Amino acid sequence: MIENIVPNTLKKVVEEISNLPGYGEKSAQRLAVSILNMPRGESLELIKTFMELLEKVHPCRECGIYTEEEICSICRSEDRDKSIICVVEESFDAFAVERTGKFRGLYHVIGGRLSPLEEITPEDLNISTLIERVNKLHVKEVILATNPTVEGEATASYIYNLLKNKDITISRIGYGLPFGAVLENADDFTLSKALEHKTKL
Ligand code: ZN
Repeated sequence: MIENIVPNTLKKVVEEISNLPGYGEKSAQRLAVSILNMPRGESLELIKTFMELLEKVHPCRECGIYTEEEICSICRSEDRDKSIICVVEESFDAFAVERTGKFRGLYHVIGGRLSPLEEITPEDLNISTLIERVNKLHVKEVILATNPTVEGEATASYIYNLLKNKDITISRIGYGLPFGAVLENADDFTLSKALEHKTKL
């Protein structure tokens, strides 16, 4: 019989990391081992930063963007156009759009994408809060800026169907973004163009 010599704690950490989206067993092993290989001071600093992240950062009560405040600076700003909402999958997508400087409305982070494979249903996403905000803020335009992937498109069309009977303009960004691209990785120029050339649905 072969003895399992992997330390239990290491096994547990690898198991927990590989539960994260995007991590397989191999990448989880690499991450766990890099932390163990770091000088002790640096690894403790890293863990401390993770603790701070959990303590301080949470979704904005209004739009879901990660913030250290109750309500994020965009939702609090007097200068933003509250009649336009840009719907994104994750906070980093909103940060990417924000970096272009081309958008002056509000955001709504739905917190993922519909995925039958990963059993992610509309109830798992912040979609009902989007509809509430559209009604409450008397929104005139919704820009669907989910990623141009199969799941992102399915999510956009799901939201479109919920909103299409309302008296609002619904548009989809995507022009110039290659299919399968992820917003947060798009360069500022491509993303600016994608925003300028949004198509009305
Ligand atoms: Zn906000």
